[in-house]
Amino acid sequence: MKISDSKEIWFIAGSQHLYGRETLKKVAENAIKMTETLDNDAGIPIKLKFKKVVTNAEEIFDIFSKANNDPFCIGVVTWMHTFSPAKMWIKGLNILFKPLAHLHTQYHKQIPWGEIDMDYMNLNQSAHGDREFGHLLSRMRKNHKIIVGYWKSNPVVEQMNNWMRAALGWHSLQGLKVARIGDNMRDVAVTEGDKVAAEIKFGFSVNGYGVGDLTRFIDHVGALPVKELIEQYAEQYVLSDEVLTGASLTEAARIELGLRAFMSDGGFKAFTNTFEVLHGLDQLPGIPVQRLMSDGFGFGAEGDWKAAALLRAIKVMDQGLSGGSSFMEDYTYHFQDDHSQVLGAHMLEICPSIAGGKPKCEVHPLSIGGKNAPARLIFEVNSGPAINLSLVDLGNRFRLVANKVQVVNPQEALPNLPVARVLWEPKPNLEISAHSWLLAGGAHHTVFSKAINIGMIEDLAEIAEIELLVIDEETNIRDFKQKVHMNEAYYQLFQNNL
Ligand code: MN
Repeated sequence: MKISDSKEIWFIAGSQHLYGRETLKKVAENAIKMTETLDNDAGIPIKLKFKKVVTNAEEIFDIFSKANNDPFCIGVVTWMHTFSPAKMWIKGLNILFKPLAHLHTQYHKQIPWGEIDMDYMNLNQSAHGDREFGHLLSRMRKNHKIIVGYWKSNPVVEQMNNWMRAALGWHSLQGLKVARIGDNMRDVAVTEGDKVAAEIKFGFSVNGYGVGDLTRFIDHVGALPVKELIEQYAEQYVLSDEVLTGASLTEAARIELGLRAFMSDGGFKAFTNTFEVLHGLDQLPGIPVQRLMSDGFGFGAEGDWKAAALLRAIKVMDQGLSGGSSFMEDYTYHFQDDHSQVLGAHMLEICPSIAGGKPKCEVHPLSIGGKNAPARLIFEVNSGPAINLSLVDLGNRFRLVANKVQVVNPQEALPNLPVARVLWEPKPNLEISAHSWLLAGGAHHTVFSKAINIGMIEDLAEIAEIELLVIDEETNIRDFKQKVHMNEAYYQLFQNNL
């Protein structure tokens, strides 16, 4: 299934004129067959479009210029069917700024032992043609993804899927507008950061809005849309008559409609708010924020604009995958002799895309913020693998921290906890995971996803050219500490590129 109806990845095959017209014709035929077969594979999420067999510097410069300027092209895949002297790629690669993947494969899977002759050798030169191209990419320090393997094999399709989703996520950040409503939770460090640096690095902008800019839209919400929205709530969630007819749900529905109008009017796809700045709002938005996340909007609580932007990218990347993604916070620990656990939650704002069943909608007082009791969706999350992500500003660069976790079922019911929650065991265990997370300076807020995998995150970090620290089954503190120290030196050396 394709997850975008307009975006495409261009496929460009490299060759040269040395071998004559017949060979080039065959190169084009095979490249087209390869592109079409891959594009028809159910595992390829974005249209893969064959563009050209390129044979000289002018053609290469021309096709990369077009890729840069084409509004539908979100990345380029290159493959050398034959040898393609790489100096002729320099001019084009110098200007290409869209994500680049080098597919190192070969048209034929195996050597035809009995028939192989010099014509075959002339045509099937990827083994050395791609090495010439790879050398130049490394020589130019050109950021790119490498995918190696037989092109019809599952691992190649899976890597292509990961990288294409990362390219789409990257594309979604370019020009993304994040509304920061009510600024930051006072005195909090990790939710702050350099918004100018973020715009230069990632392409998204963050701008502040007063709560009055939002209440202006809420004040204009009519009674009928509110009534219709509450009918939707009643269909989609389990809720009591008391909640259904109470003032809190009506106020929540008005806030949701106002918030949607505010987002649409400003062209925002991500937003933050804070419980400390709610002037003119009846309650801290619970169900409205939860439902907007579920529709693909990025969100960060307490002014966390980095979490909001990251969640937006992840929401774009996880389309069509099962499991869902949400704003999250490490809330409370459950220590045990082994398999210690983390209960993840927030005051209200967890996305129902990760819900294990039909969410309940309830109204309970919030002990902080001094507003009326907010309506919220409450649910648990099914067991299975997931990841937690945190994007932090270290002052001289951005760092992405990722931790693989295993979602588990709570040992007992939690009848008195009125928020959505998820219980997980971090990899390799809570002690090493939290130790590494603290060393990495990861935030208490995260983007939690059951849908995307670590390969997609690696690709996104590579495209963004930012540091990524992964905490997984193989992590140990000694090596992790060294990695943190070495990265400090590495990123100092390459400062200009931050
Ligand atoms: Mn928080």
